[in-house]
Amino acid sequence: MLLTISTTHSPATDLGFLLHKHPDRLQSFDVAFGQAHVFYPEASPERCTVCLLLEIDSVGLVRRQYSRSRDSLTLAEYVNDRPYVASSFMSVAIAKVFGTALSGKCKDRPELVKTTIPLTVKLPTLPCRGGERFLRKLFEPLGYRVDTHRYQLDSQFPEWGESRYYSVTLEKTCCLSELLSHLYVLIPVLDDEKHYWVADAEIEKLLKHGEGWLSEHPEQEQIVSRYLKHQRKLTQHVLRHFGDTDEEEIDVIQEEEKIEKRIGLNELRLTKAVELMKQSGAKRVLDLGCGEGKLLRKLMADKQFEEIVGIDVSHQTLKIAHQRLRLDRLPDRQTERITLMQGSLCYRDDRLQGYEAAAVIEVIEHLDIGRLTSFERVLFEYARPQIVVLTTPNVEYNVQFENLPVGKLRHRDHRFEWTREEFESWGSKVSDRFSYSVKFYPIGETEENIGAPTQMAVFEAQSV
Ligand code: SAH
Repeated sequence: MLLTISTTHSPATDLGFLLHKHPDRLQSFDVAFGQAHVFYPEASPERCTVCLLLEIDSVGLVRRQYSRSRDSLTLAEYVNDRPYVASSFMSVAIAKVFGTALSGKCKDRPELVKTTIPLTVKLPTLPCRGGERFLRKLFEPLGYRVDTHRYQLDSQFPEWGESRYYSVTLEKTCCLSELLSHLYVLIPVLDDEKHYWVADAEIEKLLKHGEGWLSEHPEQEQIVSRYLKHQRKLTQHVLRHFGDTDEEEIDVIQEEEKIEKRIGLNELRLTKAVELMKQSGAKRVLDLGCGEGKLLRKLMADKQFEEIVGIDVSHQTLKIAHQRLRLDRLPDRQTERITLMQGSLCYRDDRLQGYEAAAVIEVIEHLDIGRLTSFERVLFEYARPQIVVLTTPNVEYNVQFENLPVGKLRHRDHRFEWTREEFESWGSKVSDRFSYSVKFYPIGETEENIGAPTQMAVFEAQSV
């Protein structure tokens, strides 16, 4: 199976720099399913073509139990189309062999990475479930010119009709890394098969390589579903990440406010959070799960905060924040201080690095409990701000809300609400694990035996 990428960029041999593979050499790499070879059938200043050739060891694959059905070793397990077609094996090879180019890095010529160059991809045997129409629906919205030729099943028996295999040429002028990420995601999507078990880690890969294009793609739902082998739970998780549950999320914020309004709890939480962030001396601050931007507004009102970033998973909520903060009407020197970004707190995000303080106000209870560990690493290990101010409801206090039925959480999107003991035990565990110190504060009036309505933890990074 092979894939070729050509360019007529001048000088075309820049392709070799971008791919970190010298045009004069043939290089071979071991991959789990066989070998990948890279070579250049042509390399002149006018035109350069790189070829990625996969040699798939189908017998070895069966023996190493890469095959899906282990109890029936049929002939089809040994004799199948996998060695000859572009499939998820190709994506694995792209990530392994062109990994640096895929992630948009180029040590020797960093300026090249951002250069758009004319690129032509040829995939001589691409299985397309959904046919040419679907193939076009995937690539054309991304700006590719698509040319296809469909193979007959057998030219000696034309009455057998056509196969699901196409020879495909794609053309686009763009950065190489962009093209590689499109191929990485869309080749297995067209094939609609995956040679490995799909688990949570696949979500991370999909989000990473889909960054900047997938959330806007008209076929987003099909792409995500096929990429994740039609596993509904994983698919929904990703679609949710793209903000498809927006309307509901907004209802949810309002619902919580109704219950807590009587005691002006939100105001108390936010004022305390700003006070602590200010005391810490922080200038660059994050509001994680910023919602409609109430905390952001308070942060903007204080000149100490020079760089303010609000992040939320929901596009719709961010739109409201944008309006409420009047970002298109404020003078530039104000708007320059603030950035709103869409993102999920459950995935590592390099954009969160380099801030001194972070607020996470009434957010963790919206995360599935199984995702908390990812969130902890994202915040305390990777982003690692000096101080983190985090609040969550104290479930013990719920009996005080006369309009909240017994046993119910404060609203339906809450995945959990913790007692003081549960929260403090979580906070202490997290602070130990990531070398932070932690202090807990009650927010709102404290009642005997049940504590205060909101609980706050303030984490401070210890120097390691
Ligand atoms: N901090 C705000 C909003 C709290 S409501 C305030 O105090 O007013 C919880 C917010 O968390 C919602 O806006 C929701 O969209 C956001 N959220 C839920 N899951 C998230 C995730 N995984 N990543 C980022 N934000 C998330």
